[in-house]
Amino acid sequence: MATPMMQQFHRIKREYPEEIIFFRMGDFFEMFHEDAVNAHEILGLTLTKRSHGKGEVANTPLCGFPHHQLETYLAKMTRAGKRVIVVEQVEDPKKAKGLVKRDIVRIVTSGTNFSEEVLDGGKNQYLATIVFKDKWAGLAVVDVTTGEFTTTSVPVTQLADLLELLSPNEIVYSEEQRDQAREVIRSAAMQTRIAPWFFEYDFARDTLISHFKVQTLKGFGIEEDTLAVCAAGANLQYVRENLRTEPDHIRELHRLPIDKYLVLDASTRRNLELFEPAWGGDRSGTLLYHIDKTITPFGKRLFYQWIVRPLTDRKQVQARLDAVEELVSEPRLRDGVRDRLRGLGDLERLTARLAAKRGSPRDAGALRDTLARLPGIIKHLEKVQSGNLLQIIRSLDPLPDLVEYLKKSIVDEPPATLMHGGAIRPGYNEQLDELRSLARGGKEYILARQDQERKETGIASLSIGYNKIYGYYIEVSNANQDKVPAHYIRKQTLVNAERYITPDLKEWEDRILSAEEQMLELEHELFDEVRTRIISYSGTIQLNARLLAELDYYAAAAELAIQKKYTRPVLREDGRLILVKSRHPVVENLLAAGESFVANDLDIGDENRQIALVTGPNMGGKSTYLRQVGLIVLMAQAGLFIPAEKAEIPLTDRIFTRVGASDNLAAGESTFLVEMHEAANILHNATERSLILLDEIGRGTSTFDGLSLAWAIVEYLHDYPGGIHPKTLFATHYHELTDLETVLPGVFNLHVEVKEWGERVIFLRRVLPGRSGASYGIQVARLAGLPRAIIERATEVLTSLEASELNGNNVPRLAKGAKTPKIQPQQDPLQLTLFTTEERALRDALAKADIDNMTPLEALRLLADWKVKYNPPEES
Ligand code: ATP
Repeated sequence: MATPMMQQFHRIKREYPEEIIFFRMGDFFEMFHEDAVNAHEILGLTLTKRSHGKGEVANTPLCGFPHHQLETYLAKMTRAGKRVIVVEQVEDPKKAKGLVKRDIVRIVTSGTNFSEEVLDGGKNQYLATIVFKDKWAGLAVVDVTTGEFTTTSVPVTQLADLLELLSPNEIVYSEEQRDQAREVIRSAAMQTRIAPWFFEYDFARDTLISHFKVQTLKGFGIEEDTLAVCAAGANLQYVRENLRTEPDHIRELHRLPIDKYLVLDASTRRNLELFEPAWGGDRSGTLLYHIDKTITPFGKRLFYQWIVRPLTDRKQVQARLDAVEELVSEPRLRDGVRDRLRGLGDLERLTARLAAKRGSPRDAGALRDTLARLPGIIKHLEKVQSGNLLQIIRSLDPLPDLVEYLKKSIVDEPPATLMHGGAIRPGYNEQLDELRSLARGGKEYILARQDQERKETGIASLSIGYNKIYGYYIEVSNANQDKVPAHYIRKQTLVNAERYITPDLKEWEDRILSAEEQMLELEHELFDEVRTRIISYSGTIQLNARLLAELDYYAAAAELAIQKKYTRPVLREDGRLILVKSRHPVVENLLAAGESFVANDLDIGDENRQIALVTGPNMGGKSTYLRQVGLIVLMAQAGLFIPAEKAEIPLTDRIFTRVGASDNLAAGESTFLVEMHEAANILHNATERSLILLDEIGRGTSTFDGLSLAWAIVEYLHDYPGGIHPKTLFATHYHELTDLETVLPGVFNLHVEVKEWGERVIFLRRVLPGRSGASYGIQVARLAGLPRAIIERATEVLTSLEASELNGNNVPRLAKGAKTPKIQPQQDPLQLTLFTTEERALRDALAKADIDNMTPLEALRLLADWKVKYNPPEES
C-alpha cells in the first residue's frame, strides 16, 4: 500500500498523466516517478530515492526544490514544452489533523505562465484556441499577462497564416479535431488538446456572458458569429481552469481585425529579419533591434505588434504619421514625453499579476507610482494637435481615487513579498498597528506594565523579565515578598528573589507571541482587499497602458526619425511605388568604418514597370536592395518614418518574399522544396496590391531546371490570372532572364553597378536601369581567396559555357521566339568534359558496345542506328 500522501499524488496523476506534478511537501516541491526522471533531465535536479510505503515501488525516484524557487522551475519546465500541475498544501500543516489537504492551485502551460523569467517584456504571450466547422474556423487569442482578448472566424484556408502572424505560445483545440488542427499549425507552439465540450456553443456563450456580466454578446460584435463565440468561450474556460481563479483582468473581448493588416507570413518575417536573424547570430542584424526606440515594456510590445501587423487603412496610417510628425517637429514635446515615460511600471502585467493573485506589494506600489505620473504626462501634452495624440490625452484616466487609496494603504517602498509583512502603511488599519507594536516585542507595553505594577504594589525594584521556559514573569526581591499581592502566582524561586506570573500577564504574553502570526494573516487579508480594489479598476488601467504604449510608439518613431534622418512617406492612391535615395534600415548601421551606404531609387508599379529584374554581381547589393524595399513599405504602413529622401508608397496588402536558400529539415523539406513551397504560396495568393520580392528562384536545382522555372515564373507573374499585376522585384543570376524585357512589356531591367579594375571588380552599390554585364562570380570567388588554379580553370570553363549560351544566330537561346538550339559541335581547344544529354548518351552507348565480338556488318548497323538516334534532324 502506498502511503496516504502518495495516494493523494496518484489521484492527481491519474487525472493528469502527461503533465509534470510539482507536489508541495513542507518547504519543498517534490516530483515522483517519471516526473522526477523528467525533472532531473530538464531541470538538472539531483535524482534521489525514498521509500513511500510497502506496496509502492520501494524505491520511488524523487527530486525536488525549495518552494520559493517555484517560479524559476516553472519557467524552465514550460520553456521545455511541459505542462506543470502545481499541487499545494491547502491547509496549515500545523492545524491539520492527520494528512495535510492538498489540491491543484495552478496549471502552468506556455500560454498561461506569469513567470517573469519566461515573459519577454517586449512580446505578448498569446494563447490561441481554434475550432473547426466545415470550411470555417473559429480563433480566439488571449494574453493572460496583459488581459488582451480577441476572437474571430475565418475560412480554414486563412487560419494557418493567421496563426503564424500571431505566433501564439500555445494552441488549444478539441481532442476530436486533432487532425484538422495539425494541418494548420506550422509553428513549434505548445499544442494542448481539451475535451470537445469546452467548444460547445451554449457552454461557450454562457461562459462569456457570465464572465463579462452582459446579457448578450452583441456589444462585442460576435453574437452572430458562432465559431468566434465557441473559440472565445473555450479559451476563457481553459484559462480559468489553468489559473484556478477568475481572470478578472480580462475585461473586454474584441473582434480580431484580420483584414486590416498587411500580411507578412512567417517566411517573410524571417526573410526580412524583422525580429530574428534569418541565419542565426545575435539580434543586432534585425529590424526591431535598430528601429525600436520605445522606453516602456508596454510600448515595446505595441511596437512589436505594429511592426508585425502594419495597417492597410489609409486614414489610420495617416493618423499615426501625423502623430509622429508632430513629435518630430517639436523637440521639447518629444523629449518631454520620453523623459516622462522613463521608469513607468508595466501597468498591464502588474494588473494581470495582481488579478491572478500573484501580484506582490511591490507590484501594487509600482502601479500606484505609475498612475501618479499620469497627470504630469497629460499636462505635458496639453497643446498637442494631431488626432491620435489628442485622443490619448482625452482618454488617459489617472484614477486619482485609486492612487489616493493606494497611497493610504501601501507603504512608499513596499517589499517584494508578503512573507514578512511590512506592506500596509501604518495608520491604515488600527488592528494591524496594534498587532505590529505587540509583535515588535511589546516592549513599550511591558515597560508601561512594569511601571503600573510598581505603583500598585509599592515595590520600586519590581521588574518584568522574559525567559524561554516561563515566558514573561514578574520578579520581586526577597526583601519585598511581604508586599506581593495575592493574585501573583509563584513560578520560580531564585537565591534572593521570587518570580511570579499573573493570568493577565500570560494573556498579554500570548497576544504578543501570536501577534506576529496574526499580523501576517491580517496583512494578507488587507492586501487581498487592496488587490480586489485594484482589479475593479483593471479595465481603465489596461486602457491607460494601451494609450501610454501608443504615446511611447509615436515618440519612439519620432526619435528614430531624428536620429536616423528618416522622412515621412507619402501614401499613393494608385499602385506606384517610388523611392528616392532610399536606404536599408539595418544594413546602413552595420557597415564597416569608412564605408557608407549607397542610397538607391526605385520606380515600380506603373503599367510598363510591373516586374523589375535585378541583376548584378554576387555581393553587389541585390538582396539588400530588395529587402530594403520590403522593409520601407512595411515601416510606412506601420506609421513610421522611413530611410529615404522621398518615398511614395501605395497601400500594400501583402509582402511576399522568397529569399536565399534555407532547409526546413525538421519538417522534412529540402532547400529546393522550401523554395518551391514559398514560390507556390506567392503564385497562388498574390493580388494587385501585393509586393513580391524574389531573391533567386531555382538555385537549389540544376541550372537548366532553375532557369526554366524562373523564366516561367516571371511569365506567369506578368500574365497573372485575373489580369492583376503584383509588383515584383526579382533578383537573379540568370542573365538569360533579362531578355524578357524585350518581349514582356511589364518587365524592366535593373542592375547593380560595378567597375572592373584589371582582374578585379569594385562594387559601386548603385542600382541603375538596364542589365548587368556579367555575374562576376569568379571575381568574387577570387576576393574570397579561392586558390588561383581554380579561378583560372573556372574562367576557362565559363568562356566555353558562355559560347553555348547563344544559338546559331547569336540570339539567346531561351528568348521567346528563339529556336530551340541545335547542339553546336564544340571546337574543343580546352578539352572540356562537359556534354549535352545526347552526347552523354552516345558516350555511354559507345562504352557498352562489344566491338570485339561484332561482325563488321553489325558494327556498321550500330553506327547507322546511332546516327539516327543521337543526331536528330534539326527542327523546322
Ligand atoms: P549575392 O548575389 O551573393 O546574394 P547580393 O547582390 O545579393 O549578393 P547583398 O548580400 O545584398 O549582395 O550585399 C552584399 C553586401 O554589400 C552587404 O552585406 C552590404 O554590406 C553591402 N551593401 C549592399 N548594399 C549596399 C549599399 N547600397 N551601400 C553600401 N553597402 C551595401
